Amino acid sequence: MKTMNIYCIGRNYANHARELGNAVPDQPILFSKPSPALVETNGQVISLPKDQGEIHHEIEIVLKIDKDVKEGDKVSDVVSKMALGVDLTLRDVQSVLKEQGHPWLRAKGFKNSAIVTPFWPCEGKEVCEKTDFSFVINSETIQKGNIQEMMFDFQAIIDECVNCFGLGEGDLIYTGTPEGVGPLQSGDQCQLYWGKEEKGRFVVG
Ligand code: ZN
Repeated sequence: MKTMNIYCIGRNYANHARELGNAVPDQPILFSKPSPALVETNGQVISLPKDQGEIHHEIEIVLKIDKDVKEGDKVSDVVSKMALGVDLTLRDVQSVLKEQGHPWLRAKGFKNSAIVTPFWPCEGKEVCEKTDFSFVINSETIQKGNIQEMMFDFQAIIDECVNCFGLGEGDLIYTGTPEGVGPLQSGDQCQLYWGKEEKGRFVVG
């Protein structure tokens, strides 16, 4: 049976781990989101939970897996498309879950919590290293990142996912967020940029 999985990497940029007061991990922190969490940007209003406390934005590069991955496969063999995404977190809910030692699912897996732009052909490591990605709210740049700041690169992330869960065609990987995460407010106009190019936009509903 074929289903699509959404995997996410936590604390993959050291500065983001530090801003939340977390230790920098020595192996990737992995979690997943249910498929109804996924929504593609087209300029629309995206409805988010009300009355559950703060919802934080995390802009991330998203990789799309082309085929069933075998151990040892190279990124370039199994990923031909990339996108930008926003991994949303109910931060207050997550803080309580962490205190209780419970899974993050309620804080990370709600409907529309995995926003993604349309995909484009993967540009390779060198181009990515020359291209910052950024998240703009109401015309102000709030987060900016570059893959050079990642602790676990795309290859390490894919290797880890294959070892732990397996990876198949259509699976998505959110590869972690740089520092600058913070709350979204209803009505915020949000844009995702790859270099100077806008790849997607949405309005918080
Ligand atoms: Zn994230």
